[in-house]
Amino acid sequence: MPSALSLTDISAAYSGKRALDSVTFMISRGERAAIVGPNGAGKSTLFKVIVGLMPHLTGDVMVHGHSHHAGDCPSIGYVPQREEVDWNFPVTVMDVALMGRVKEIGWLRRPAKSDREAAREALAQVGLTDLASRPIGDLSGGQQQRVFIARALTQRADVLLLDEPFGGVDVEAQSAIFGILDDLRQRNVTVLISTHDLEMATTRFDRLLLLNRTLYADGPADSALTPERLAAAYGGRLTFWRDGQPMTVTADDCCP
Ligand code: ADP
Repeated sequence: MPSALSLTDISAAYSGKRALDSVTFMISRGERAAIVGPNGAGKSTLFKVIVGLMPHLTGDVMVHGHSHHAGDCPSIGYVPQREEVDWNFPVTVMDVALMGRVKEIGWLRRPAKSDREAAREALAQVGLTDLASRPIGDLSGGQQQRVFIARALTQRADVLLLDEPFGGVDVEAQSAIFGILDDLRQRNVTVLISTHDLEMATTRFDRLLLLNRTLYADGPADSALTPERLAAAYGGRLTFWRDGQPMTVTADDCCP
């Protein structure tokens, strides 16, 4: 069976400066993986390459075994970092969920009943039915993340990319997002997130990818992040405690 998402030898650059160098990995259907790495490691760039918002210099992105060049693959749902969204844009929660159907509807036509039904269903799945008519800018950070997940669900994406979904959201909101991810796992949706939170990544994800321009580790959460690999990826900016307990690591550049 082809993998849900496969990247081979992906390199990308901004004005000639490499942000990604020969990144290769594949993720199986239904897997829940986290990309970790310091700020500026290329996590967002990697997502942009996967969804086609950023060109790659070398390599290939395959989705369900098919080459994906144009950035218009309905299988992929992308939830950008909060900073990349204009939260003052005058749209409601329902409008954002409906954006997942833009390809079917077309930009200038009105959504059909079935489109609205799909959007309503997606909002119910993320627990936001009651907020459907509210402006997106009125919602909390965690709720806004859930609206964007709903947009991906309306699109019927089965590979979900979430760029720092837990940044700036409180513990309750994090647990609501994990509840949705658990539900998606039951439905075999593949999830790839980026996070700077190493502890969350190791405790809540099946698989970790340690990135700093190139991949330093790729494997199960309990074995991928060795001190040596972490030190190589983060440089000297890490502190390790052992204390007879599983290793705890904090990075001094964790919080933008
Ligand atoms: P991360 O998401 O891991 O913090 P990014 O993908 O945002 O990393 O950035 C990777 C590298 O690319 C960094 O050195 C960053 O400064 C650079 N970069 C990101 N976006 C741009 C941009 N629009 N123009 C120029 N350089 C950029």
